[in-house]
Amino acid sequence: MTRKLAILGATGSIGKSTLDLVERNPDRFEVTALTASTNVEALAELARRTGARLAVVADEGRYNELAGLLAGTDCRAAAGEAALIEAATGDAELVMAAIVGCAGLKPAMAAVDAGRTVALANKEALVTAGALMTGAAARSGATLLPVDSEHNAIFQCLAGSNREHVSKIILTASGGPFRATSADGIAAATPAQAVAHPKWSMGAKISVDSATLMNKGLELIEAHYLFGLPSSQLDVVIHPQSVIHSLVEFVDGSVLAQLGNPDMRIPIAYALAWPERMPTPAQRLDLAAIGRLDFEAPDLQRFPALRLAREALEAGGAAPTVLNAANEIAVASFLAGAIRFPQIAAVVHEALNGADYDAPNSIGDVLEIDRVTREKTRSMMQASCA
Ligand code: NAD
Ligand code: MG
Repeated sequence: MTRKLAILGATGSIGKSTLDLVERNPDRFEVTALTASTNVEALAELARRTGARLAVVADEGRYNELAGLLAGTDCRAAAGEAALIEAATGDAELVMAAIVGCAGLKPAMAAVDAGRTVALANKEALVTAGALMTGAAARSGATLLPVDSEHNAIFQCLAGSNREHVSKIILTASGGPFRATSADGIAAATPAQAVAHPKWSMGAKISVDSATLMNKGLELIEAHYLFGLPSSQLDVVIHPQSVIHSLVEFVDGSVLAQLGNPDMRIPIAYALAWPERMPTPAQRLDLAAIGRLDFEAPDLQRFPALRLAREALEAGGAAPTVLNAANEIAVASFLAGAIRFPQIAAVVHEALNGADYDAPNSIGDVLEIDRVTREKTRSMMQASCA
């Protein structure tokens, strides 16, 4: 059976891995739509290769260029927010939501509201609007399939089990590039060092989040919304080999885990083929060659971002939205060389301290909290750098 698939964020790391699987399984998928932020050359090339019918560039200023590149093909060019939403709904049955950041929220929500099956990589959408998104899925009948490797692992471990029998979820974290670096070394970290992840090859933003451990914090919040457990039943353990992707403990003391080599094509394939499975070219796990698996507790002194995220999860209301928005701005500033590595967590801390919003009741509320937090965070950073 061929499934109609839209890929939001097709030019990114997750988008490319998704397309790799699609091209290896041409009978399983028909690509309906592809989207990108600004890179019209890459987008047009992918649209030609996959035979997509719609290609959307988020930046409206690039529309003419995209239309020119697609002239003479069956693929329609479009640009802007309404077109992103069209790509996320339209005739797609399955939507890969792989835009990075809160920018992906509206298209992902549109797919959920339309009752589509949504393979969700865009964790920021869930962090910033988790309750609204899961509530909308319950109303529309949309299925949310986690693509993030940890949540995908948990989803696999939970298959066929009664949720009331779950006592704890344990998220594994590689520890990132600075796991064994002193506090002084971390303070001097450059963007190039921060994006050089030891185990995973990913986009720049999530790589920095992995270096601060904010990524694991965002994943705690993501797990809370996806699996309905409170903070007290969500643990984090550092596991440098990234072979165990997460674990579920049940009330009888049994613990189930999902293992595999760190290759995002494994969780992506699980989401794309669900409830079936499909082959991937991922290297097979050779435990004897790996030899040992190590574990340690996260160090919240050197990695305060993880503590901040847990506090935001426990505070609830608007706190996760503020955490996410301030982090996006701080990470972008760090990547641009405007702030130092430890300031990322410091900026997020200050944004959370200064926030006083009612819990968002709509996506409009979320986007307004996001906008104001970004503005306040930018001026806070300008004031402290001046
Ligand atoms: P990336 O930076 O490589 O790609 C991001 C994609 O989003 C690109 O196609 C880009 O064009 C598009 N995009 C960026 N800004 C946009 C905007 N304002 N409007 C519309 N489109 C925009 O990122 P990635 O590593 O592929 O990550 C994508 C999402 O998946 C993130 O939320 C990330 O946290 C999550 N994720 C990624 C990985 C991974 O291995 N890369 C693993 C787990 C979760
Ligand atoms: Mg992850």
